[in-house]
Amino acid sequence: MICSVTDNKLSIEKSDPGRRGLYCKNPLRAKANVPAALRRRSPPRLPELSEFDVVRHYTRLSRLNFSVDTHFYPLGSCTMKYNPRFNEEAAALEGFSALHPLAHDTCAQGTLELLHDLSARLNELAGMDAITLQPAAGAHSEFTGLLLAKAYFEDKGEKGRSEIVVPDSAHGTNPATASMMGFTTVNIASRPDGRLDVEQLKAHIGPKTAALMLTVPNTVGIFESNIEAIAEAVHEAGALLYLDGANFNALIGLVKPGDLGIDMMHLNFHKTFSTPHGGGGPGAGAIAVKKHLIPFLPVPLVRKAAGGYASDSGDARSIGKVKAFFGNTGVLVKAYAYMLAHSAEEFGEIAACSVINANYVAAKLKDLYPPYSDEYCMHECVLTPGRDMTSKGLKTLDVAKGLLDRGFHAPTIYFPLIVREAIMIEPTETESKETLDEFIAAMRNVHDEGVADPQKLKDAPRTMPVKRLDEVQAARQPNLRW
Ligand SMILES: *Cc1c(COP(=O)(O)O)cnc(C)c1O
Repeated sequence: MICSVTDNKLSIEKSDPGRRGLYCKNPLRAKANVPAALRRRSPPRLPELSEFDVVRHYTRLSRLNFSVDTHFYPLGSCTMKYNPRFNEEAAALEGFSALHPLAHDTCAQGTLELLHDLSARLNELAGMDAITLQPAAGAHSEFTGLLLAKAYFEDKGEKGRSEIVVPDSAHGTNPATASMMGFTTVNIASRPDGRLDVEQLKAHIGPKTAALMLTVPNTVGIFESNIEAIAEAVHEAGALLYLDGANFNALIGLVKPGDLGIDMMHLNFHKTFSTPHGGGGPGAGAIAVKKHLIPFLPVPLVRKAAGGYASDSGDARSIGKVKAFFGNTGVLVKAYAYMLAHSAEEFGEIAACSVINANYVAAKLKDLYPPYSDEYCMHECVLTPGRDMTSKGLKTLDVAKGLLDRGFHAPTIYFPLIVREAIMIEPTETESKETLDEFIAAMRNVHDEGVADPQKLKDAPRTMPVKRLDEVQAARQPNLRW
């Protein structure tokens, strides 16, 4: 055994010399021309283990994790937690998976058609005119969007637009993108309900503004009901309205953001179109734009040609490539499979379910965890620990740790920053009422335990292999190996 969980510690025992996972009777002797001085003189110091040792080690570690395949995952501002296995089968079809990236258009007609049709469907749902599927994620889409803004103003000869306006409720990637692109970020305070204050906005925009980056629904899960007035103010200042559409699953099929006066928006396939999230694997994002930004889109684009589809090297004003070829096409195939599985009306139901589920959780918990806002929320709700908990020194962190003992991944905590002790819960459209009821019961149980015996909750998690961490030490002296 190489890994055992004892006393909260993962300990690696020494490997057993001579043990092997694989025996080769006639090992190939490679005859590489490596100069003698660079050749290894002693064997590498690798653990010597049997196949069982290794398989069991990693399988055991994988089971110590919470995952969407094993647990309800109420993280907020994250949306998709549903990855249909059917998508994987579609992406694995040889015609897609074995296609060489440099294949001639005539040999790639199926993939080109898929990209063309996926683009058309996304444009239809978003109410936009054109789209690039090249970016690898949401943040990369933001980066691409601001490159488009730069190219657009350069083309118009407007050189002084050096500022990006970002509300204080925005996802951290918005100001990060603006800084990376060399813009100055102008922060504006949100109203207490998390919405943008139109008067504040007007005071902060002008001839130096390139764009406003606005998240809809905003990060406290509320619809930006003033968006038309916002769009008007932004356009009056000659700037662009960028919509952070990471949470499009709350609107899809019900609202077309393009009708609200925006100039561009990004989509996250791992948040709205059922592709797997995180893990460092390939991802996909997109930027959908209105007509005036089309000439600047990344290339290649796919266009309809005589008898089929062709890749198009676009306009001379294109910003070029932001990712090789057409982006992560395997991920796009998965999104397309999901897209074909649902009609436009069903997308509307998906959005409605995401909103109903979040409001159900909020309504069932609001007596113990007061919501940040009395309004109906959209796809996620923001709660806080009640006074009976805070008066006993209990915090949001304790609630999150208590949930782990009850078999639930923690919600997003301490975000959005504008809410003190925020607990942000996004059940998503795909969870059943039974699962939500179990989660609600766990949240209520955490409250009751905390109020009855605060120290007990402060000691949570008690059943996990790693108990409560010293957060300060973990940040200052991270122990990244053992
Ligand atoms: C997730 C998210 C992003 C960033 O998207 P990634 O795909 O994680 O890079 C941006 N804005 C909002 C509101 C988000 O929720």
